[in-house]
Amino acid sequence: MAEDRHVAVLVVGGGPSGLACAASLAGSCEVLVVEREQRAGGIPRHSDHTGYGLRDRRRLMRGPAYAEAWRTAALDAGAELLEGAMVTGWTGDREVSVTSPAGRFRVGADAVVLATGVRERPRSARRIPGDRPDGVLTTGQLQNLVHLRHHEVGHAAVVVGGELVSWSAVLTLREAGCRTVAMVTPYAKAEAYALFRWAGRAALRVPVVGHSDVVRIEGRVRVRSVVVRDRATGAETTVACDTVVTTGDWIPDHELARSRGLELDPGTRGPAVDAALRTDAPGVFAVGNLLHPADTADVAALDGAHVVAAVRDWLDRGGTRRGVRIAAEPPLRWVSPQYVEPGGEPPARERLLSWTDTLVRRPVVEALQDGRVVGRCRTWWPAAPGRVFRIPSGILDDVDATRGEVTVRLRA
Ligand SMILES: Cc1cc2nc3c(=O)[nH]c(=O)nc-3n(C[C@H](O)[C@H](O)[C@H](O)COP(=O)(O)OP(=O)(O)OC[C@H]3O[C@@H](n4cnc5c(N)ncnc54)[C@H](O)[C@@H]3O)c2cc1C
Repeated sequence: MAEDRHVAVLVVGGGPSGLACAASLAGSCEVLVVEREQRAGGIPRHSDHTGYGLRDRRRLMRGPAYAEAWRTAALDAGAELLEGAMVTGWTGDREVSVTSPAGRFRVGADAVVLATGVRERPRSARRIPGDRPDGVLTTGQLQNLVHLRHHEVGHAAVVVGGELVSWSAVLTLREAGCRTVAMVTPYAKAEAYALFRWAGRAALRVPVVGHSDVVRIEGRVRVRSVVVRDRATGAETTVACDTVVTTGDWIPDHELARSRGLELDPGTRGPAVDAALRTDAPGVFAVGNLLHPADTADVAALDGAHVVAAVRDWLDRGGTRRGVRIAAEPPLRWVSPQYVEPGGEPPARERLLSWTDTLVRRPVVEALQDGRVVGRCRTWWPAAPGRVFRIPSGILDDVDATRGEVTVRLRA
């Protein structure tokens, strides 16, 4: 029977954000990372293609090597990793219950960092009607099957979605000997960067079907076909395939945040945090894709490093969440962090992260308080659906701490 214990900092989730946090903190205090999978590393461990590490490790790496680098960094710094163990609930303000092969026990901590990441919403949550055959997967399930369990997946796949992760699914399908016969996206074209779209179409020969939805899945035992409906004309086409991969459409793994009663942002559905990544519960912090579903791994890892100052501050002095509430105006779906203190510490990388439902090629971003524009900037990068839109946090420099909520909006 495992014994209850107490640590200075408990990190829940051993993905890039949790491991980077542990690697930065462990030199100065006792840090325990609890990870439910058999090996820490998070999503990149399953994602065996390049594209990781640019902003945090300053080089391009394949997912598994990147995951291993952060795992090693956390161990080398002195963090303890408890793998194959899941945090299942709260037993106190900063105390959780853990289920592991050794049994159930409690871990109390002076500070808790939630780093539980995101998941893609499966077919049922996307409400795609039709038969319920085998062969319908999310990208995460596909990569688990191919990279970790070396299973076959099929011969002809339809990928639902056109985000960066959708191209990751295409690569994995190809590696498993499965051709992608169509990528179906509700937007005019695939949402990933133009370079990915070009490479995807030219090198991987994937036909992208824009402005369309998969409206039915057919097949008794195994997927036989899907029906694709054009949003403009309503015309329906049947596409023969034996595999369907639903990609993107993220939801934070927020069960622990919910059960702790943390304030959640209605847009991200993750905890509402301030620029230092404090939640509204004293001594409880959140990092990574749990906060911004979903960004790249390097940005998640940089969150992990950024939160360290606030954790230390809490351990030394007990600082709590501060700032003025920031809200997003459509077509922005959300903005993170949700609280920023005028004149205080800027958010990680001095960027607000947000998500748009409409493409704006050269956007002007405005911050409004009390009906008055208090900050404005034009970005030289577009606000595009399917990927995080980064906003220089300087647009909040003139926010007044006494004047209430700030709204961030886009102008063409
Ligand atoms: C298919 C795919 C391809 C991608 N390709 C790229 C790419 O090329 N480049 C790039 O930069 N990014 C890529 N990403 C994004 C990248 O993987 C994420 O940004 C990154 O993994 C986020 O890190 P995280 O630590 O926030 O969350 P995660 O990596 O999701 O880690 C969260 C961890 O928490 C654990 N956990 C959750 N709940 C509990 C619990 N209750 N108890 C214990 N443990 C728990 C999970 O098991 C998981 O290991 C890709 C994502 C996907 C899905």
